[in-house]
Amino acid sequence: MLEWELEEGEAIFWYLSYAGWMIKTKNHLLVIDYMEPNLPPEEQKLSNGFIAPETLAGYDVSLFATHNHGDHWDPESLEWIKVIPKIRIVLNWPAATGSNILVLNDTLSHLTLSDLEIYSYTLRSSFNIPHSTILIKVDGVSFYTNDDFGARGNIVPDYVKQCIDYISSTGDLDILLLNMSGNIDDEGEHFMGLVDAYTVMKLNPKVVFPQHRIYSISQRNKVLREAEGYNLRAQFIFTDKAGQAFHLKKGVVKMMSP
Ligand SMILES: [Zn+2]
Repeated sequence: MLEWELEEGEAIFWYLSYAGWMIKTKNHLLVIDYMEPNLPPEEQKLSNGFIAPETLAGYDVSLFATHNHGDHWDPESLEWIKVIPKIRIVLNWPAATGSNILVLNDTLSHLTLSDLEIYSYTLRSSFNIPHSTILIKVDGVSFYTNDDFGARGNIVPDYVKQCIDYISSTGDLDILLLNMSGNIDDEGEHFMGLVDAYTVMKLNPKVVFPQHRIYSISQRNKVLREAEGYNLRAQFIFTDKAGQAFHLKKGVVKMMSP
């Protein structure tokens, strides 16, 4: 599938575990919040959620990390620069220097890198380290990760409003990779909170992938019930295993056979 020729408006994307994804579009490979598994699978391949960087050597690769936590950033990724000639690494802290490293310094950032458009909202004040939500538009598709912006409580904080206003001003969104890290019920299970619902409502993506510790059936059902309660229209898809692949075409997502 990595070799497939894709058209404008089409993407194949692989869930890589936790908050990690790789996205292939017509001319680009995008990697988001990938970390090498602690216990690498016996067969180190994409269909097991493992990226062998040398297999990406022929592609235009952009690697993103929303923040410098071990479940979103793998320092091993810096080694990819040695084996992938066309790679850029986009971060909100100077993990390294060099022409391949792009640092998101501003609260609102918009980078145009030839045909790649990156919009990000970076928050430095409310967390102990900077956090960036990232929207990528390329080859006729758009993907957005909300970082770990989910927050507890019954109000939508101003920084979330500012962020979502900015992101929604850029046009329609295909895929929302929604980290649900804010709300935990009495049984210790995550569910959709107001901030998550606000994000879905305002961005109105075609498909939402709830992730970041949403594993059990009961958690998933809770998320769906909440989505219904908030009257959210987007389709929700839950991932089952690292390496699972999906196909996006004309705004419709289908799971690919393993
Ligand atoms: Zn996290």
